[in-house]
Amino acid sequence: MTTDLSRRGFLAGGGTAAVTTFGFNLEAATAVAKELKIARTTQTHSVCPYCAVGCSVVIHTLGDKARNVKPAVVHIEGDPESPINRGTLCSKGASLKEFVNSDLRLTRPKYRAPGAADWKEISWEEAFEKMARRMKETRDAGFEEKDSQGRTVNRLANLAMIGGCTDTNEVNYLLGKFRFGLGVLGYENQARL
Ligand code: SF4
Repeated sequence: MTTDLSRRGFLAGGGTAAVTTFGFNLEAATAVAKELKIARTTQTHSVCPYCAVGCSVVIHTLGDKARNVKPAVVHIEGDPESPINRGTLCSKGASLKEFVNSDLRLTRPKYRAPGAADWKEISWEEAFEKMARRMKETRDAGFEEKDSQGRTVNRLANLAMIGGCTDTNEVNYLLGKFRFGLGVLGYENQARL
């Protein structure tokens, strides 16, 4: 086999081009390697939690269906069907897999009692109970039925709510119902979905 590959062409083309030129076609091997990374994964559509752009992501999880295997997130990529990011992610979003798999990631609620120096892990039930109790006490202490001129306002100015960038329209709709039901005026949300 003859080749007209120059030294400059070899260097500019990189290994793949060079090997292809020398008679090896790496397309099949490359395709297999690509397939292996996400082969047999379960795909879950979600939203990047980092900023208000709200890029959609596809999370690839391995092991969901196998016995005695702990599911593991092996790959996260931009969702090509999203009109927001069209399959792309910024460098922060592209590092999402490390965030999900980090040992430092909080997955359980923590509580630091008044005056205590340390946080202790509590159950979700205990966390919900504590939040509900504090909201009730705060509302009881701050609810205004009438303003200074006797007009009905039914408002709560001593409690505010914030949302996150992964809150969807549906979540925000429910949050709106919830806060108006309580009389909460202060509300901010990063979500632009
Ligand atoms: S991928 Fe980047 S731009 Fe998109 S939501 Fe995440 S942090 Fe924001």
